[in-house]
Amino acid sequence: IPRKRFGQHFLTDTSVLDDIVRAIAPQPGEALVEIGPGLGALTFPLLERCERLTVIELDRDLAARLRKRAELTVVEADVLQVDFTALAAQTGRPLRVVGNLPYNISSPIAFHLLAQVDAIEDQHFMLQKEVVDRMAAAPGHKDYGRLSVMLQWRYEIESLFEVPPEAFDPPPRVDSAVVRMTPLRQPPQLDAARLEALVAVAFSQRRKLLRHTLGRWLTEQGYEGSFDLQRRAEEVPVGEFVALAQALPAAQR
Ligand code: SAM
Repeated sequence: IPRKRFGQHFLTDTSVLDDIVRAIAPQPGEALVEIGPGLGALTFPLLERCERLTVIELDRDLAARLRKRAELTVVEADVLQVDFTALAAQTGRPLRVVGNLPYNISSPIAFHLLAQVDAIEDQHFMLQKEVVDRMAAAPGHKDYGRLSVMLQWRYEIESLFEVPPEAFDPPPRVDSAVVRMTPLRQPPQLDAARLEALVAVAFSQRRKLLRHTLGRWLTEQGYEGSFDLQRRAEEVPVGEFVALAQALPAAQR
């Protein structure tokens, strides 16, 4: 019986599962980590194609079932407590992280992984479509906001395909989509907390000119540059937010 509090919606559509496995395209020698394997709908097809698969499952009963498969490494834990950097050190190479995520904690998971992105080769996730749209949105698009900027400064993000509720049992109330997140090879040098603070202020009041939302904050930070404030946050490209965060005087934070 699916446990609602764990966001359990099990994938049952085999053609969707095939599409996900094809998108991941596991290669010999890689280290895969699956978040929330559940009953193993994605786990078992992946196991056929890769040698090292670690699964992270919070539900004790589901974790116990998965332990019966000797080739699997089962970590019974809350993914938000898992140290991916240590996992990568154990396996000796960056991790390919995959999963049909529990939608109620998809943003916290994304930020938990962002903080450990140096340990990650790439990520493939099933998420609420609305969240994927926000992650992947370009400036000027209605979905462009904090989540877009905070992930795109560090990842290339591709929305791969949509998945209807009927592909799951029980069906979720929302449409889903599969996203690929590939860490940028040469990311900007940046204190993520500083960008986070800046973007939070910039997007605090949508549709207002940055002059009204960001102007005073920048002065308080001791910023004296010439960033164009006659725009709305939703028009500013990621690279300009990054450059502005880098230009903030360090001591004033
Ligand atoms: N991968 C399976 C599938 O596609 O059929 C299950 C997906 S279901 C949407 C999400 C899974 O994540 C459930 O098995 C649930 O128990 C597990 N889960 C929920 N919260 C978790 C957490 N904090 N850490 C690890 N796993 C979690």
